[in-house]
Amino acid sequence: MNREHDAHSVLVVDDDQFMLKILARTLESLGYAAIATCASGAEALSRLKRETEWPDIVLCDLNMPEMDGVEFLRKLAEIGYDGAIIVISGEDKRILSTAETLARGHQLHILGHLEKPVTPDQLKAMLARSQLRHEPRARASAEFCTSDEIRAGLAQGQFVPWFQPKVEVVTGWVAGVEALARWRHPTRGMIAPDCFIPVAEQNGLIQELTWSILTQSLRQAQAWHEQGNDIKVAINVSMDDLVRLDFPEQLLELAQAAGVKPFNITLEVTESRLSNNPLVPLDILARLRLKRIGLSIDDFGTGYSTLSQLKDFPFDELKVAQSFVRDAVQDPTARAILESAVNLGKKFSMRVVAEGVETKEQWNLVAALGCDNAQGYFIAKPMPGPDLPAWIKAWKTP
Ligand code: C2E
Ligand code: CA
Repeated sequence: MNREHDAHSVLVVDDDQFMLKILARTLESLGYAAIATCASGAEALSRLKRETEWPDIVLCDLNMPEMDGVEFLRKLAEIGYDGAIIVISGEDKRILSTAETLARGHQLHILGHLEKPVTPDQLKAMLARSQLRHEPRARASAEFCTSDEIRAGLAQGQFVPWFQPKVEVVTGWVAGVEALARWRHPTRGMIAPDCFIPVAEQNGLIQELTWSILTQSLRQAQAWHEQGNDIKVAINVSMDDLVRLDFPEQLLELAQAAGVKPFNITLEVTESRLSNNPLVPLDILARLRLKRIGLSIDDFGTGYSTLSQLKDFPFDELKVAQSFVRDAVQDPTARAILESAVNLGKKFSMRVVAEGVETKEQWNLVAALGCDNAQGYFIAKPMPGPDLPAWIKAWKTP
């Protein structure tokens, strides 16, 4: 279904007629001309199914009789609605957050949630987010992300690392970079890792992929060094990478060949799947630390990055998941989690990195909470290796 991206049409869904009128009037006062209203999720869905052009933005209530907002969001995902969504409700903030998380899980483009009563300023600020470029996250099910295509891509050297800086919050010093895999596909352009990493993990290809990213990243570090920039490099590894007991020795050999010191290498570990034999990764991680390689617990606070891992594995860096950083400015629950993660990190003498810092407000908050390092679009987006020295030169602490 085609949508006209330059027109800003809005559909408001709420069972409360009074609320529909208020929201429509507020939208009008904000300059929106194409506003439609529906008094139920079912009515909105049948409207969307009939229409050839979908609204750019859907505002929806959560607590509606018959089809509630959670079910409505799920149905929006089922019909493939690709516009922006704002959830508006008088429900508890935690339920609003849960609905937002669910919507993200369904790959919907959710701008955020607002508590009723909504002021025109709040609505305006939330709507302004729809102007930000929406980069749809690649879906694991994309038809070309097959194990055969990935295998062929690996053989042809199509997987390359891009690098995103991590900076020290207090001084602005560039503390290092994280290597993020990109698939330079000959016909489909640059492909994000969410598309190919899960497929590579499930098909026994992740070790080859990680090794290729590792090798190229260390070579890049060597090139930066030769140009006068000593930059620490972090590489993402899955638990599926930590299956061969000689991994530490092989990594050290690779580092030596590239002239990179072990303490300038960090591995960011996420446990995307439970490992069959937890003793093997434990053995590998312990020996990596003994060899002075840095270990970072990635996406802390979500999925499998848990407190028990913090206890069992010898991490020296903790990366707080983006979602907490993103929401912390406005959501006290997310802020409490971010604050606790910082305190926990300090207690374990770990460096704490805030991921996904996108705004000055978030930067100020992570600084106030005592995060050591920050990473995110506010500082820099991931970039090709050769671009990094010029970025460092131009970088000014906010
Ligand atoms: P991650 O380790 O949590 O990496 C951070 C992701 O957040 C990156 O997405 C990065 O581009 C994105 N990001 C950074 N700053 C911001 C920001 O301010 N706002 C937003 N919205 N996003 C930001 P990317 O490159 O798509 O990577 C996704 C995930 O893929 C990574 O998450 C990592 O788990 C995995 N991955 C990437 N490269 C590799 C690799 O070489 N090996 C393995 N095993 N996994 C990898
Ligand atoms: Ca990472």
